[in-house]
Amino acid sequence: MVDQEKIEEAIGLLLEGIGEDASREGLAETPARIARMYGELFAGMQEDAKTHLSRRFCVESNEMVLEKDIVFYSMCEHHLMPFYGKAHIAYIPNGYVVGLSKLARTVEVFARRLQIQERLTAQIADAVMKELEPQGVMVLVEAEHMCMTMRGVKKPGSRTVTTAVRGIFNEEPYLQNRFMTCLTR
Ligand code: ZN
Repeated sequence: MVDQEKIEEAIGLLLEGIGEDASREGLAETPARIARMYGELFAGMQEDAKTHLSRRFCVESNEMVLEKDIVFYSMCEHHLMPFYGKAHIAYIPNGYVVGLSKLARTVEVFARRLQIQERLTAQIADAVMKELEPQGVMVLVEAEHMCMTMRGVKKPGSRTVTTAVRGIFNEEPYLQNRFMTCLTR
């Protein structure tokens, strides 16, 4: 669990730091409100993807399973600003599949932490490989970073794309192509 008291204290200091009057009416409840919100935004730190991926079902055919357009919200660890977008996950089963909602849950586990997009992408792929033991997995994440669109280079709408490729997807490039083709449909 997050330390609510510490966060409240820190936000109070932050408000003073930017020259605000932390005691004015509009801000009086802000530190407590942010502390509660952070409890939700960083809930993934107490979670393990195993919880969601360990319930597997047997399948006869090992055809590609693709779950696309999984919307997520995460926080950039360099600026504490949101980045958000969509994750797409494909895997080739090795006799087992999981319920489709479990892939979305897995994304949540890793998104609700301080993150960089590259690590988020890799962690999703590694968790699926470890818990589901498929023949391979490919993850593509596309996201807009508020730290890029609100400050610095200020390029609203620009998206960062990251991929993680594991197992048979590395060995068989046509599988990567099939995955990419499915995404554009
Ligand atoms: Zn950032």
